[in-house]
Amino acid sequence: CGIVGFTGVNQVLPQLLDGLQKLEYRGYDSAGVYLNNGDQDYLEKVTGGVDNLRAALAQDGQDFAGTAGIAHTRWATHGGVSVENAHPHLSADGRFYLVHNGVIENYKELTEEYLQGVELKSETDSEVAVQLISKFVSENHLSTFDALRMMISKLDQNSAYGFLLMDRQAPDLIYVAKNKSPMLVGLSEQGNVVTSDAVVMLEVTHDFIELHDGDIAVVGKDKIDFFDKNAVQFTREPFHVDIDA
Ligand code: GLU
Repeated sequence: CGIVGFTGVNQVLPQLLDGLQKLEYRGYDSAGVYLNNGDQDYLEKVTGGVDNLRAALAQDGQDFAGTAGIAHTRWATHGGVSVENAHPHLSADGRFYLVHNGVIENYKELTEEYLQGVELKSETDSEVAVQLISKFVSENHLSTFDALRMMISKLDQNSAYGFLLMDRQAPDLIYVAKNKSPMLVGLSEQGNVVTSDAVVMLEVTHDFIELHDGDIAVVGKDKIDFFDKNAVQFTREPFHVDIDA
C-alpha cells in the first residue's frame, strides 16, 4: 500500500516512521520496517498502525541506528492480517528483505514451479518475490540485480508492483523496481530516499526522479543508477516539488 526507503549518512528510522505516518491517509492494516547499519540489522513488523510499530521498536530495538532501511504499510490482498503477512518479507537464507505494493497475479504458479522445498513464512504473494530472488542468486549464481530482473521477468504481465529490496551483503543499497504502481527516488545531501508518494518525504527533500514502468534503480547514499527494462543504464533529471512539507 505505502512504501518508504532511505539510505543515508545518519540514522534513517525517524524519517521512515514519519513517512509511514503520513501515508496513513491511504489506509492500511499492518506496518513494518527493516534497518541495517552495516554491522547489524533489525526487522520489526506489527498489525495495526504506525503507533504500534513505534511502540514495538521502543520495546525491542530502542534507538536502532540503521543508516539504511525500508518500510511499508500493508493493505492485505493475499493472506490475512497478521504479523507474518506484514512486510518486509525476508528470504529463507536471511539475506534479502523486500517490501511490495500491489499484486502478483501468478504467485501460486511461481511457488509450484520454483519454490518446492522452500518453507514460506507467510501467505502473501509478496513473499514469493523475495524467495525467488534468493533462489536465483544461489542456484543460478546471479548478482542481486540480475536475480531481481529474473524474478520480474517471471511475473504475470498484469502484475502491479512497486518493490524495494535490500541485500545484507550490500547493506547501504536499496534496489527499486516498479510497474503500474508509483515510485520515486528523492535526492538529498543526507542521502537518498525512495517512496510511493513524494508528499510524505518532503521533510527530507523536494527533489525527485520518477521511475517509469519497467525501470530499476539501484539507490545508494550518494549515487543512484537507473536502468530501463532492458538493463540499459540511463539518466533522468529530477523535478522540484514546490510545496511545503
Ligand atoms: N499483495 C500484497 C499483500 O497482500 C501487498 C499489498 C499492499 O499493496 O499493501 O501483502
